[in-house]
Amino acid sequence: MALIRSRRTLAKSIRVPPLASEHEERLALNEALFRTANERAAAWEERQDNDDVEPYHCECGDLECRQKVPLRRSDYERIRSDPCHFFVAPGHEIPDVESVIETHEDWVLIEKDPEVREIVEVTDQRRR
Ligand SMILES: [Zn+2]
Repeated sequence: MALIRSRRTLAKSIRVPPLASEHEERLALNEALFRTANERAAAWEERQDNDDVEPYHCECGDLECRQKVPLRRSDYERIRSDPCHFFVAPGHEIPDVESVIETHEDWVLIEKDPEVREIVEVTDQRRR
């Protein structure tokens, strides 16, 4: 019975996401900043009509991070199709504020937690 009760409590907390902490918000904004930089690079014409591997900025929450992540154009577009998805270099994910969805040799696909969904959605240039 205790298990059933705790599951109900969990379902309730999912319907009404808790407020993001300042720390979580800052991390989400940092990641959104890297995404903007990548969107500028991706808009270059020569990158648009092939599926070559190109270096993109790691989209982790550390503003000091200068790591490049090699990505195929098709993978980049697939990640960009969801405003809550970001890619980071392996080991740059922050389990407290995001979930790992895919692990590749050179990069990891992460999904932001519901608390910061609004931030990553309004900062997504493709949603405007
Ligand atoms: Zn990084």
